[in-house]
Amino acid sequence: MQDFDAIVIGAGAAGLFCAGVAGQRGLRVLLLDHSEKVAEKIRISGGGRANFTNRDIDPRAPHKHFLSENPNFCRSALSRYTPADFIALVQKYGIGFHEKHKGQLFCDRSAEDLIALLLAECEAGGVQRWQPCGVKTLRVGIDGSYQIDTERGTVSSRAVVVATGGLSIPKIGATDFGYRMAKQFGLRIVEPRPGLVPLTFDGDAWAPYTDLAGLALPVLIETGDKKSRISFAEDLLFTHRGLSGPAVLQISSYWREGTPIRINLAPEVDLPQALARAKATSRKLIANELATLVPSRLADAWVAQDKDWQRPISEASDKALARLAERLARWELVPTGSEGYKKAEVTLGGVDTRDLSSQTMESKQPGLYFIGEVVDVTGWLGGYNFQWAWASAHACGMALPGR
Ligand code: FAD
Repeated sequence: MQDFDAIVIGAGAAGLFCAGVAGQRGLRVLLLDHSEKVAEKIRISGGGRANFTNRDIDPRAPHKHFLSENPNFCRSALSRYTPADFIALVQKYGIGFHEKHKGQLFCDRSAEDLIALLLAECEAGGVQRWQPCGVKTLRVGIDGSYQIDTERGTVSSRAVVVATGGLSIPKIGATDFGYRMAKQFGLRIVEPRPGLVPLTFDGDAWAPYTDLAGLALPVLIETGDKKSRISFAEDLLFTHRGLSGPAVLQISSYWREGTPIRINLAPEVDLPQALARAKATSRKLIANELATLVPSRLADAWVAQDKDWQRPISEASDKALARLAERLARWELVPTGSEGYKKAEVTLGGVDTRDLSSQTMESKQPGLYFIGEVVDVTGWLGGYNFQWAWASAHACGMALPGR
């Protein structure tokens, strides 16, 4: 039976990075993944260019852009391995990158460059990588070391790192392996649910908006009650089944079933004032005046909802115009659900951080570590999830015991 200092399960962002860090410290590391291809999620991320980190992470409050039942847990790892550290690594490999929006950094050429970087880091650490190689069982012996029955035989190690990610995009290899391992060893799980995901609406209720599919516009979106209110200023995208775009992906991670979301469809316009001014000076239809303030397709779909809005603006009552302004600036709607794990960029919840060390990512089960998305730490859209993968992997890779 082959013995290693550490066995990392899952060759995604976190697993590859952790294996490379540990290997370069001189540990004998085995990296296993059941998929044929390495790091499929990096390959498809950021539209194929991987939004690999975010410059806007606040060094004094790095946990600000992350969701977790235990919001301070991620602070330690994120402060010890920062976006600047990862950017330095990207620069060391000569990978060109650019900032797109709100601190988001993307590869100039392709996410493949990032995968090549991670593979080169593993190579520099002498990491053995077995792919495809499924894991059948994981057990702990009386001496505290682990034996793993894999499709390529049984291997042993004193440390096992679970980096198998969340449930999003099962088609490219996502499984519940990490949660099962946590449960096997008595660790708690925060109920997983899809995050950064398009929201869907009841067929009939959505009928007035289906013609808007494909329309994108900047909005202000919010959810939650007085205590938990959160808002984002981002682009909204209408789809055939509901709403998507960065605004909705962001809010979806905070949205709870049965509760409403509120959208200001014209956040940069003082609608009551603009409509009152138009009423005083114009004889055009409300739809035409509205089309100077919001996209014309949106204006048409909106006025179609009320007979009082289908007339020249000069003939509209003040009340009808106030209602129109209110409905555009405070469009409240209750999603029926989301597109689920099939479309979700991340999985919220996961291994409960109360059972993990924020310094090392070791669990209460000695020698068993969890890193990356399998942990109950989920970032906002915009490179935060990869930064968590790098930071948690680095904390673990540096802490794994040597011989
Ligand atoms: P993963 O990268 O998911 O890796 C898990 C690995 O474990 C996989 O290789 C999988 O094959 C393997 N595995 C699973 N089960 C088993 C098993 N039973 N046995 C063996 N191996 C197993 N985040 C950003 O920050 N920026 C972006 O631009 C971005 N874009 C995204 C776009 C899409 C479409 C999606 C779906 C996600 C995106 N994300 C992005 C999120 C980001 O990809 C993840 O948060 C990140 O990959 C998590 O890293 P991880 O290593 O924890 O898990």
